[in-house]
Amino acid sequence: MADADLVVRGGTLVRPNAAERADLAIVDGRIAALGREVAATGAEEIDAAGLWVLPGGVDPHVHFNEPGRTDWEGIATGSEALAAGGFTAYADMPLNSDPVTTDADAFDRKRAAAEAASHVDFGLWGGLVPGNLRELEPLVRRGALGFKAFMCDSGLPAFPAADDLTLAEGMRRCAELDAIVLVHAESAALVGELTRRAATAGRRSARDFAASRPALAELEAINRALFLAGETGCALHVVHVSTARGVELVARARAAGVDASCETCPHYLLLTADDAEALGAVAKCAPPLRPAADRDGLWTAIERGELTIVASDHSPCPPELKAGDHLSAWGGISGCQSTRQLLLEHGCGRRGLPLPAVAGLTAGGAARRFRLAGKGVLEVGADADLALVDLDRSWDLALDELRYRHRQTPFAGQRVRGRVARTLLRGRTVLRDGRLTGPPSGRLLTPAQRSGDQRTW
Ligand SMILES: [Zn+2]
Repeated sequence: MADADLVVRGGTLVRPNAAERADLAIVDGRIAALGREVAATGAEEIDAAGLWVLPGGVDPHVHFNEPGRTDWEGIATGSEALAAGGFTAYADMPLNSDPVTTDADAFDRKRAAAEAASHVDFGLWGGLVPGNLRELEPLVRRGALGFKAFMCDSGLPAFPAADDLTLAEGMRRCAELDAIVLVHAESAALVGELTRRAATAGRRSARDFAASRPALAELEAINRALFLAGETGCALHVVHVSTARGVELVARARAAGVDASCETCPHYLLLTADDAEALGAVAKCAPPLRPAADRDGLWTAIERGELTIVASDHSPCPPELKAGDHLSAWGGISGCQSTRQLLLEHGCGRRGLPLPAVAGLTAGGAARRFRLAGKGVLEVGADADLALVDLDRSWDLALDELRYRHRQTPFAGQRVRGRVARTLLRGRTVLRDGRLTGPPSGRLLTPAQRSGDQRTW
């Protein structure tokens, strides 16, 4: 082959079925060759001996809250945190930015903000809310990855819950547009009434909050969404599933022919209802943290291959909004920097999950499901998005290493593994030894067209 722009030598490449020592040559931001000894010489060479080369992480679920609530996080700080954790791509949720991303104008504004500030590549989710059916096609034309709907109160009046008719009509339209629908699956009817009862009775603890959003509410909503997806022929993805039974419902529907998938989050894999009580509102999220049996069941689902995506659902807010009890505090967990490092320690280290599985959970699974061509995998032709990681290093996560605008997370003190030596985006080093190396260079990611009739997942 011709001379490369860059050759990464002697690292251990983590590929879908194996991890092996190999060189990797990069031309024009893409992987041009990989193998035991790539003959090409690069204008630049990186000595990766002793390091593991993982595909740059893909986090399909973050809330960077820009424009409009940059004081809650912001794209610059959020994407820097991702780069520091070895991630090179993310997809931003249609809330809690202001405006919410439910029409083309809001999409354009968020895209411009991300192009100006993002240190890694980004995709944008549109929102499906009552009354915005006509906005779906313009959003798809602009490159929206798909549409997120809430089946319960989102906490933001600007982003109302999708009732059953909105979901059914939205899914039918999305099936025509070949766009995937994402649901926050908790039943508005069950959660609404239980929340009202808890508030009336003055029940405000972490346990009370969890009891107001029981597994039943999640399972009922997942079931209904799966049914509507099957009826409409729409692709469905259930975000942040917190229960093993929820994953099972999705797996069963998929086996029956529904184009369905789901994700879970590090907090459901690492933390339990007991932790929510001990940690306080920093661990408040919806669905709430569950008993240990669910945590263990989610790991089992990963081991069985039923659960192939772990997303952070990074959803920060200013500390003052986290100051109250579990009833009044803002719900949302900050965690996008530590997703992969937590899985490297707790998945690989403690549960014996193979490294390629962690690469899949944190990169390849989301890239495949959401049709992010060239992302999430080390293969010839793919974008040269790389994380060079020292797996010998493990430590207790400290607040002062976080790049979030507000250094808060329920994972503080958790063991993590895999110091990121370098993060490369399309062949360029964007972060080295914990420091950004240049201005923001993230680009918009849009879903690839389907090839023929082929299912992508
Ligand atoms: Zn979310």
